[in-house]
Amino acid sequence: MTQTRAVLLARRPGRTLEVDDMVVGTIDLPDLAQGQALVRNTYMSLDPSTRGRMDPGEKQYTTNFEIGGPMDGSAIGVVVESRSELLPVGATVRHRLGWRELAVVDEAAVTVCDLDVAPAMSWLSALGQTGFTAYAGLLPVGHLAEGETVLVSGAGGAVGSMVGQFARLLGAGRVIGSAGGAEKCAWLRDECGFDHVINYRDSDFAAELPVAAPDGVDLFFDNVGGWQLAAALANMKIHGRISMCGAVSNFGTQEQPTTAVLIETVLRRVTISGFIVRDFEVLRPEFEERVGGWLASGQLVDRATVVEGIENAGAGLVGLLSGANVGKALVRLSD
Ligand code: NAP
Repeated sequence: MTQTRAVLLARRPGRTLEVDDMVVGTIDLPDLAQGQALVRNTYMSLDPSTRGRMDPGEKQYTTNFEIGGPMDGSAIGVVVESRSELLPVGATVRHRLGWRELAVVDEAAVTVCDLDVAPAMSWLSALGQTGFTAYAGLLPVGHLAEGETVLVSGAGGAVGSMVGQFARLLGAGRVIGSAGGAEKCAWLRDECGFDHVINYRDSDFAAELPVAAPDGVDLFFDNVGGWQLAAALANMKIHGRISMCGAVSNFGTQEQPTTAVLIETVLRRVTISGFIVRDFEVLRPEFEERVGGWLASGQLVDRATVVEGIENAGAGLVGLLSGANVGKALVRLSD
């Protein structure tokens, strides 16, 4: 029987995620059935949603992990053995069975990645769920129009850095971001083309936002929630829109604002639209063509912070939640 090293959920996390909440163990893999392939994973994605899946309560859009059971998430790898004509040995594929070194995948649940379009890592970042989330939140959800002022929180991360760059390429008039730390802010301004970046760890976000957006914000793409959402609400234009993508500040220990801040939605006639990217799968071909073109023409900066080895994957997730990543957070599982 084939076995693989995998990251298991050791215990339910407390208020702050700890490396010891996860442990590397060994799991058995099933024999290959018709239509399946054995994949050696090369990179896996680190995502804030993984933290939510470690809690006991079921989420609406995915399943939660069992204590002692393997974790999972997006990964890319190379087919090393196959009983599927669609998945030839040597093909690079993207699938959902990360957090392990080897995976048995079903052909129906796998995307074959064309490395002529983009390098393998980009299939997990700009061309992956990350970029697709940015695309969905800006266009079908956020209805971005040319010339508008766009604000994105969590701008130095995977989704946020794509949101700002896509917005610019789609004709936004002014792109403002928030990020933690001087290095991230400088990168967003100097290399990703943001007009203004607020270092929320070092400055008063609520005080700086009206300086960055003196005429108000048309579209706010929110990855963070909490106090940044409260400040953004008070700086929206009349009939402004908010694409609610996530609330990573919920995983921290800081006190959160109350629903009293929502009065701004009334005063400013603001529309808040929550979304889950998987509801927009019909747009995937359009997204891949457009973003693949931006990557090929060098118009898009696709940066990753890479953690080495499955034994460091847990630490990588802890780091993600404390802002250790610039751009997309990945773990390299093999060459
Ligand atoms: P990411 O932004 O690369 O990583 C998370 C970042 O959040 C950290 O690097 C950190 O950057 C920031 N952060 C952590 N704690 C914070 C706090 N208390 N306040 C403010 N910022 C904090 O992660 P991602 O993969 O791009 O995901 C971004 C958001 O999109 C998450 O909320 C995720 O759940 C959501 N998402 C939603 C969908 C959907 O379908 N709706 C799909 C994918 C992702 P700093 O250095 O800036 O603090």
